[in-house]
Amino acid sequence: MTVRTRIAPSPTGDPHVGTGYMGLVNMVLARQHGGQFLLRIDDTDRTRYRAGSEQAVFDALRWLGLEWDEGPDKGGPCGPYRQSERTAIYLEHALMLVKSGHAYRCFCTSDELAARRAEALAEKRDFRGYDGRCRALDPEDAERRAGEPHVIRFKCPTDEGKTVIQDLLRGPIETPNAELDDKVLLKSDGFPTYHLASVVDDHLFRISHIIRAEEWIPSGPLHQLLFEAYGWDVPVFCHMPLIRNADKSKISKRKNPTSLLYYRDAGYLPQALLNFLGLLGWGGPKTADGGNQEIFSVDDMLQHFKLETLSLGGPVFDLAKLRHVNAHYLRELQPQAFAQQVRDYLVGDPAYLEALVPLVSPRMETLGQFLHVADFFFSDVDHVHPDDRKLKPGSVKRLVEGLVPAGVEPEDAWFTLSQLSGALERLDAWTAAELEQALRGPGAVALSDWKPRDLFMALRVAISGRKETPGLFECLEVLGKSRVLGRLADAMRVLPAPGKKRLKKLEKARDARIAGAATEASDA
Ligand code: GLU
Repeated sequence: MTVRTRIAPSPTGDPHVGTGYMGLVNMVLARQHGGQFLLRIDDTDRTRYRAGSEQAVFDALRWLGLEWDEGPDKGGPCGPYRQSERTAIYLEHALMLVKSGHAYRCFCTSDELAARRAEALAEKRDFRGYDGRCRALDPEDAERRAGEPHVIRFKCPTDEGKTVIQDLLRGPIETPNAELDDKVLLKSDGFPTYHLASVVDDHLFRISHIIRAEEWIPSGPLHQLLFEAYGWDVPVFCHMPLIRNADKSKISKRKNPTSLLYYRDAGYLPQALLNFLGLLGWGGPKTADGGNQEIFSVDDMLQHFKLETLSLGGPVFDLAKLRHVNAHYLRELQPQAFAQQVRDYLVGDPAYLEALVPLVSPRMETLGQFLHVADFFFSDVDHVHPDDRKLKPGSVKRLVEGLVPAGVEPEDAWFTLSQLSGALERLDAWTAAELEQALRGPGAVALSDWKPRDLFMALRVAISGRKETPGLFECLEVLGKSRVLGRLADAMRVLPAPGKKRLKKLEKARDARIAGAATEASDA
């Protein structure tokens, strides 16, 4: 069997560290067996689609050194590799299942479904995703109605049995059939759901191992049933443990920067990040004394990595550990290579340098002043007050001035920064004008009830460590999204996060502000 693996990111935002992690494991397994590693773009969910996100995935994976053998920008024998270009294939495959009796057309509208769900709830009856009403339609009648709006649903088994998937790491995972429901395969707009598109592609791309995150386990039984309904071989399933925050919750932007581009822009070395990702769950090559070698390369992984030995305990994304690994790689560099890295980091992107010239040149008389004015475009920000930076870890430190407005509790400032971060994250275009609109326009009520002056100062200080900078929105534009979000996350890490109760209160106040603004607008 040729080992063929894939990753299938959805272009819905910044390229996630989880994509890097999956990419590394999938690539290593394919290379270990002389097989192929594929990149598929799962872009059928048009509501969540974000322009630029696909290119960002390519850039981030290439920066890491994870090169794919077949993919949207490279082609290959099974293309196209972008799901939005394969809709005719999914339609054909959905109809194949209707014909073979494994799927059926369902004409229930969402209003009807909602009413039946409410009725079931009132009568305390179980109503899983769908009650199977259209199963009873006469297939010939249903065919005659094919011009009406409808979806195609999979006919799940309704017997007392179980559906079992074999997971490489977890062994058999059983789901009682009573827990399954007739999921939609093809939506009324003709687009496939993830389930149909993923199974069809995994078969047509001859994927031998589906290695993906644990969060896809619930989709496993349906995928298994779909492979069987088509009469196709079932690939090996391997659901990898989720990467977690230090508190064991699923890795989240609130606790760790999750964009691969953040790590690139913050000056991590790709080989260090790969090493760190390799440590997650695997731990590294075994040493003679039974421990693990912490520092290793992808070549070491190719030699020693064993997918089936991966630990299921959720690996923790420990930023301090990553920094430690990165520091090791930096120290290993010979002066020439180190200097090259510094050059690449600082001036490797002439467009970046040129974009900030209009912001800093009016404030300079000599070139010697450049770094005084422009330091924060190149350098991380320490949000701790300069006098307190040397204090022992654990001791209470003052923060850099302006990050928390006078009279505001630090927890509340944390919340405002998290609102800011969310609002900026959701922006597609990243121009000064758009940023200003988002932060000053009507949507800004969601951010805080602070005076705009305080809000903009907190943001300015969070991204620059300074109370004075060139124009805030222009600075945000030039710094770019991943740096800005990373710095907001850095600032949030020095602030205390609100407890559950306080968070609820803050969220409630925010929702009331939004509702109040909506009423005002409609009264006007
Ligand atoms: N598009 C899915 C994702 O974004 C792919 C899941 C899978 O690997 O099957 O993670």
